[in-house]
Amino acid sequence: MIKIAKLIDGTKISQDIKNEVKEEVKKIKQSTGKVPGLSVILVGENPASKVYVGSKQRGCEEVGIKSESIKMEDTVSTEDVLKEIDRLNNNPEIHGILVQLPLPEQVDKDRVLQAILPEKDVDGFHPVNMGKLVSQQECLAPATPSGIIEMLKREKINLKGMNAVMVGHSEIVGKPTSLLLLNEWATVTICHIETADLKMHTVNADLLIVATGVPYLIKGDMVKEGAVVIDVGINRITKDKASPGLLEWRKEDFEKKGATLIGDVDFLAVEPKASHISPVPGGVGPMTIAMLLSNTLKAAKNLMGIK
Ligand code: NAD
Repeated sequence: MIKIAKLIDGTKISQDIKNEVKEEVKKIKQSTGKVPGLSVILVGENPASKVYVGSKQRGCEEVGIKSESIKMEDTVSTEDVLKEIDRLNNNPEIHGILVQLPLPEQVDKDRVLQAILPEKDVDGFHPVNMGKLVSQQECLAPATPSGIIEMLKREKINLKGMNAVMVGHSEIVGKPTSLLLLNEWATVTICHIETADLKMHTVNADLLIVATGVPYLIKGDMVKEGAVVIDVGINRITKDKASPGLLEWRKEDFEKKGATLIGDVDFLAVEPKASHISPVPGGVGPMTIAMLLSNTLKAAKNLMGIK
């Protein structure tokens, strides 16, 4: 008998979350006449950043959150960006501020991110929010990690006592996801590029989360039978990078567009072993925007004093 893992449908789950946010935004508007507001600062002309900002704005529109994008030249100084943040910090109609990364070299990313009022830090990157995450206080947690946990909860996966392995230890994904898992009482192992024997850890994982940016790093023999596998990686594969092994799973899309997206997990090899698996695309990706909208709603409610 061929075993098929349950596909975790991030597109469907994120739509459910967006519908819930939309309902709440509507209620706030009815009772206060106000709507949550999000400002996105975009510095320079990075094409990928423009695409991300565009989809964040479309997400806002869909749920009734007011959004604006503030475009700044790629020659701006740290002080210029700080001035803009100060203006937004003091604008009562703006409840969420997000600075699209990466920033040009001359702009001090840490100073910029730390200038955002923690109450408006909907990306959850401010050290105050990170600190609160460590000490399990109410906070704005980063969107992708929150999306992963939300996805698992809505799939009714009980994280308590689970052997969870997080591959990747970035500030954006790996570290905050590990903390959120720990807060749910999972037993967490964190692996990274210097981990001596990755497979030794991954084969013991009941829950395997991968965020490395290495296409198909995780092969079939690295996964335990019945594991829950969450693939966070987003790798754009173009003709020059395409080997047949990388493309089997996304062949049709590649042939149509001349490029495609794949994850960090070799889907075709891992899927038969997993109990649940999130695909790329259509897994964690859409959850990130849904959680950003949810964070903006949360920030707006806190700032407006709505329970
Ligand atoms: P990063 O480059 O900041 O961190 C990569 C991590 O992977 C590091 O901890 C590194 O040590 C580890 N790593 C790299 N090669 C490894 C190897 N061979 N073995 C073990 N560990 C290894 O990346 P990031 O920002 O955390 O993003 C990771 C991936 O997730 C990227 O593909 C990115 O595009 C994707 N991502 C997706 C979303 C989403 O919305 N779905 C959000 C953020 C990032």
